[in-house]
Amino acid sequence: MDRLSATLTTPLTKTDLFQIKPDELPVQERIEIEYLRAQAIARQYKLTAEDVHTLSDKFWAMHLDNITAVDVAPMALLTIQYNLAAGTLAPWAAKRPELRPILQRILDFECSGQFMLTEQAHGLDAIHLETTATMLPDGSFDFHTPHDGAAKYMPPSVPLAGINMARIGVIIAKLVVDGEDRGVRPFVVPLSDGKQMCQGVVCRQLPERAGAGPLGHSLTWFNHVRLPPSACLGPTEMPKSKKAAFQAAIWRITVGSLALGALAVPAVGVSAYVLARYSQRRTVVSSDTGKVVPIVSFRTQQIPILHALAQSFAMNAFMQRKTSGGFALFCDPKADIRVRMGVAAAAKCVMMLHIQESCTQLSERVGAQGLSCYNQIIAIQLEMRGAAIAEGDTLVIAIRLATELILGRYELPAPRYPTSLPARHEAGLIAEARSILKNKLGGKHRSDEFNRLILPRCEVIVRAIGERFFYEAAIDAGVDKKLVDLYEVNILKHDPAWYAVNAGLGSWEINEREDTAVSAALPDLEKYLAATHAHDYALAPIMTNERWWNFAQSFVTFTGGASTEVIQTPSAGKL
Ligand SMILES: Cc1cc2nc3c(=O)[nH]c(=O)nc-3n(C[C@H](O)[C@H](O)[C@H](O)COP(=O)(O)OP(=O)(O)OC[C@H]3O[C@@H](n4cnc5c(N)ncnc54)[C@H](O)[C@@H]3O)c2cc1C
Repeated sequence: MDRLSATLTTPLTKTDLFQIKPDELPVQERIEIEYLRAQAIARQYKLTAEDVHTLSDKFWAMHLDNITAVDVAPMALLTIQYNLAAGTLAPWAAKRPELRPILQRILDFECSGQFMLTEQAHGLDAIHLETTATMLPDGSFDFHTPHDGAAKYMPPSVPLAGINMARIGVIIAKLVVDGEDRGVRPFVVPLSDGKQMCQGVVCRQLPERAGAGPLGHSLTWFNHVRLPPSACLGPTEMPKSKKAAFQAAIWRITVGSLALGALAVPAVGVSAYVLARYSQRRTVVSSDTGKVVPIVSFRTQQIPILHALAQSFAMNAFMQRKTSGGFALFCDPKADIRVRMGVAAAAKCVMMLHIQESCTQLSERVGAQGLSCYNQIIAIQLEMRGAAIAEGDTLVIAIRLATELILGRYELPAPRYPTSLPARHEAGLIAEARSILKNKLGGKHRSDEFNRLILPRCEVIVRAIGERFFYEAAIDAGVDKKLVDLYEVNILKHDPAWYAVNAGLGSWEINEREDTAVSAALPDLEKYLAATHAHDYALAPIMTNERWWNFAQSFVTFTGGASTEVIQTPSAGKL
């Protein structure tokens, strides 16, 4: 159950850099703090090109690190830096020595490495992107944004002058040779030198994202920027398939789906820890006995805490390649790319569900304090809204995967426990969708009926697959059976109608199963909390009374000498 990276970043949590930032700092300063935090985490991990390219245990350990719960924003930068920028460059640098120095600067986090695919007018249909890299007679490139809709949208390009950090982009653009569109390639493009933008590159900083640490998200234009021949990552000939060239150029986004998903392990685990500790120290007077009792004595606190812990351990079990067949397959470069993408999609959809569902419940159960970002849970939840969209929008990857599975184009890893409830649920939903396609839609998947009837079911189907992966991984990794039972109840609660009709489990039966599972797990709460290693990462001021009042010292305080009479005292004569 222990986490690989349990202690690597613990020293950082004691440094000034990782303490709560005052909200009133100017935005540019807050942006730069996020980069310094990302750099500090990177320097604990010291990932190599080999780690990034082979998807080593250390690469995944960084994404499972509890430091995510202290601040999600630096993790977003790290995953772009290592997975997208370095990950796209690394295979080319292995063959082309001239690329190694720039790859090393990115690996050392000496500069900020960005990955620019999305354009303002092309998000999920990025395959139709319009940024061009036109090859000139001397082999160099003219890199250009043909119109505003082709400006790169979201990846940060704001200069980091306060910390003198240069930026380099791995940018996906259409290669044009002799007037011919030869499909997309990644290009290495300097964006800023640490002080100012590079010539011909224009950045317009986007307004801040709701509830998220600022990273300097931007709109970025290229005005006939001249790039050397070495900037192109890939051959300049016409590819056999433009679609395959596109998929090869953006392959690391699939890794990113799972890498961003993995942040759910610490996000949910540390959030559960914060609520558990708060619930143990917060007391009320019991209306039954008149005695002071901690709120953790209420079942309505215990349920979200224990479910979140079960989710965190089940997701963590899935991310261990020794015991998790699905994850091992994802990391296998020889496996069918469609299956690898499918595994990542199913896992990410459930990971994002667990974060949004658990963090909503956990933060609500902290009361008013749950609404403050400094108490971590709601901050994690809001930040992770972005992760559900970036690197594979969960709805759209679910639609793609479910459609291909319904059509029988390939299979994901078969259930190891086919008679288990989660495996029966998954098989039942897929069989039902196949039957509807065949019998009601005449087998036509490009039809209005498919759009109306099947598309809205896709997320439910894909979540069922991901939940089955995590459930099986938890069993195979030897996660405490009490937590596995709890995780199973959590799955049942996501689709009670199906289990009522197909497994004869009414809502009261599910309620009783939950009661049994929570009662069994509760005595081991301390053991589970310790196994999250969250102690040093739960920096919420509400963790202790002392910490809260120390923190409250920093609040703006108002005093005065005014004396006003709100209620007029009646004059003596009228009495
Ligand atoms: C926090 C964050 C960081 C990001 N960082 C980067 C980055 O570093 N580099 C980069 O290149 N990009 C980045 N992006 C952009 C991201 O990749 C895009 O936001 C994403 O691809 C979705 O594109 P869009 O926002 O334009 O949504 P759109 O394409 O406009 O889609 C909006 C909605 O339309 C619906 N929809 C669209 N297509 C379909 C379909 N085929 N079937 C059914 N429904 C559909 C879905 O409901 C979808 O959610 C980032 C985004 C976020 C939120």
